[in-house]
Amino acid sequence: MDEIFLQQALEFGQPYTGKGTVASYIPELSKADGRELGISVRPIDGPQLRCGYWQRRFTIQSISKVINLAMALEHFGFDAVFHKTKMEPSGASFNSMSRISDSEEIPFNPLVNSGAIAVVELLLPIGLKEMLSTVRGLCSDKDIIMDEEVFQSEWSHSARNRSLGYLLQSKGLIEGSVDDTLLLYTQLCSLSVTADSLANLGQVLANGGICPQSGRRLLKEEVVRTVLTMMLTCGMYDGSGEFAVRVGLPSKSGVGGGILSVVPGEMGIGVYGPSLDSKGNSAAGQKILEYISRTEKLHIMDRLIRHEAPAAQI
Ligand code: GLN
Repeated sequence: MDEIFLQQALEFGQPYTGKGTVASYIPELSKADGRELGISVRPIDGPQLRCGYWQRRFTIQSISKVINLAMALEHFGFDAVFHKTKMEPSGASFNSMSRISDSEEIPFNPLVNSGAIAVVELLLPIGLKEMLSTVRGLCSDKDIIMDEEVFQSEWSHSARNRSLGYLLQSKGLIEGSVDDTLLLYTQLCSLSVTADSLANLGQVLANGGICPQSGRRLLKEEVVRTVLTMMLTCGMYDGSGEFAVRVGLPSKSGVGGGILSVVPGEMGIGVYGPSLDSKGNSAAGQKILEYISRTEKLHIMDRLIRHEAPAAQI
């Protein structure tokens, strides 16, 4: 893989920017230019490859759910997290309230809003300052800050997430303050990253939790295993199944236009493309990843399926 190949992938994806629209339910996000596309690839053992608007800063939005889940698992363990959410694909939109309003139901998984908000309550004792420094470390990007405009814009248009918060509280899945939990959730969605930062995060996950450059372990191996499995099955909301067939890489999207993808054992990929499909996933970003995965045979099943018959034993 080289930068000429990434340019081809970007050109393949470009027409699909016209098939979506930038998010507008958070008004500040509607200022993005839907035609922009950027890619960054960070192999575990090679130089970073980039193309297009890889330096563009945008808000991480739902990709923060990956880091939040990882931190909750690291600090509080598997049972504390999966007492608050199931581990099932929801088949519903990212901010769906359906089904969890039934008295027995808990959120489907930690990567949809309801599950993510419940998980963020666990992170309150850690707080924004420490979470921000964790995000900077995982993304190898000290320039990540909270985008105040996007935060204010979402905070003043958060009726839906507030409803989810109070519903969770009524079920005992948020025990303390809904307001404090939503505040931290929204702040963490408003952190500004680049395609590069996402690729860096991806390579740590691809490398089982160890930063290849520093050799430091940032996440436990079993945490990475759980997080990657949740990304593979639930990371693209109600588009997760089709994306798994077409691309076959653990991935997570955000309405800021980012997609984080992980090629286990090999590389992290960050894509930026703020024009979104009806499910809130980057329209062209998905096509770019499909092109890269198919051309380079990165689909995890391609890498597991035996392509040649073993030599006959004599
Ligand atoms: N901050 C957004 C929200 O809570 C994140 C959603 C997303 O990226 N899909 O609605």
